[in-house]
Amino acid sequence: MSNVFYRSTKSYPTAVRAEGVYLHDAAGRRYLDGSSGALVANIGHGRTEVAEAMAAQARTLAFVHGSQFTSDVLEDYATRLAAFLNLLDFRLWAVSGGSEANESAIKLARQYHVERGEPGRYRVVTRVPSYHGASLGALAASGMGARREVYTPLIREEAWPKLPKPDPSLSGEDDADRLRAVLEAVGPESVAAFMCEPVVGASDAALAPNPGYHARIAAICREYGVLFIADEVMSGMGRCGAPLAVRLGGDVTPDIVVLGKGLAAGYAPLAGVMASADVYRTVMDGSGAFKHGFTYAGHPVSVAAGLSVLDIVQREGLVDAARERGAQLLAGLQALKNCHPHVLEVRGHGLLLGVVLGDPATGQAYPTPGLAERVATAARERGLLTYPGTGAVDGVRGDHLLLGPPLSITPDEVKELLNLLDGALTDVPD
Ligand code: PLP
Repeated sequence: MSNVFYRSTKSYPTAVRAEGVYLHDAAGRRYLDGSSGALVANIGHGRTEVAEAMAAQARTLAFVHGSQFTSDVLEDYATRLAAFLNLLDFRLWAVSGGSEANESAIKLARQYHVERGEPGRYRVVTRVPSYHGASLGALAASGMGARREVYTPLIREEAWPKLPKPDPSLSGEDDADRLRAVLEAVGPESVAAFMCEPVVGASDAALAPNPGYHARIAAICREYGVLFIADEVMSGMGRCGAPLAVRLGGDVTPDIVVLGKGLAAGYAPLAGVMASADVYRTVMDGSGAFKHGFTYAGHPVSVAAGLSVLDIVQREGLVDAARERGAQLLAGLQALKNCHPHVLEVRGHGLLLGVVLGDPATGQAYPTPGLAERVATAARERGLLTYPGTGAVDGVRGDHLLLGPPLSITPDEVKELLNLLDGALTDVPD
């Protein structure tokens, strides 16, 4: 018997090694990693360069506590990351995962307003659907029924007002203007921040608003004194074919940008909050300390992994590669849509792509979700890993697959991915 607490009753193969876009299990099976795990392995697997950077850091300085020291690797990384993201006067708060990072961003936004003498601002407006993390604050911020419903007695709902999801039939500006109604309804003077995923991940299959949305959101936030937090845990770091997805539809600089997943691309637990100079200075010139902290914040070995991953992303031009391979994959998915009627829609940016599944007769999701799981199982049996999900809006669940292979995937490997998915969709007719 195993002593491992598994995530569910399903059986898990034992992964033994991985390189490039492929993972291998103990039974000798090979899997094409079509989803980079959960959109994590941006530079592909098995990069010894990253392992060596981590080992060198572990040998020199494995750990310092953030209340006692900074480190050269953290200082270098913060500078390099700010330049890469073109967030030049921003400060990096480095943590271990996306949920921790969003908890940090939410608490920072709240503290910012307290420091400014507006303690009445505490609400954080987010969208339905959305996913911001599994810890209770990040989960409260999330509009994702399936992952949330068991825990709702622990959530004070009035603190987390919700905006509807982006509506592609509206212009980006008109769509964003709907934020005003939510702010007015709850009283804008009670709102600390608005947070959204620029390209939606697990909850809504790479749904993105039209151009102009984020710039208008930023303007409305400024007008009402509300901070704009972009949760780029999944969409950032080049995944969508730009360093930050929030800038895909026009130039915009949020007050806080949250990163994770592709930051250290799975080589180490690493996520981060990039806070604007205004946010940082308000706290430091006020009480002088962020009233929050995690033991492993700024962990030197994780940060060394992040620095090495960033070297590879820049040296190999993986942001451009995400755009090019993403266009190839999206075109291939459009072709599959024409052959498989239960593929209702394909969409996304760069290598964050969504395949929306449902009933071709109605053009809507099936009332009982499960199709995405079945297609993902068929794909896995053929040697392709995908990231299935069921979004939930107003109680209606929709089946979808997220696709997001490593940004280093080759054109031939994209073709292989498409062939395997074609087979899986054929195996599961509806
Ligand atoms: N934010 C977004 C947009 C995510 O997609 C996720 C994870 O899927 C998170 C936050 C939470 O990150 P983590 O699972 O690393 O805590």
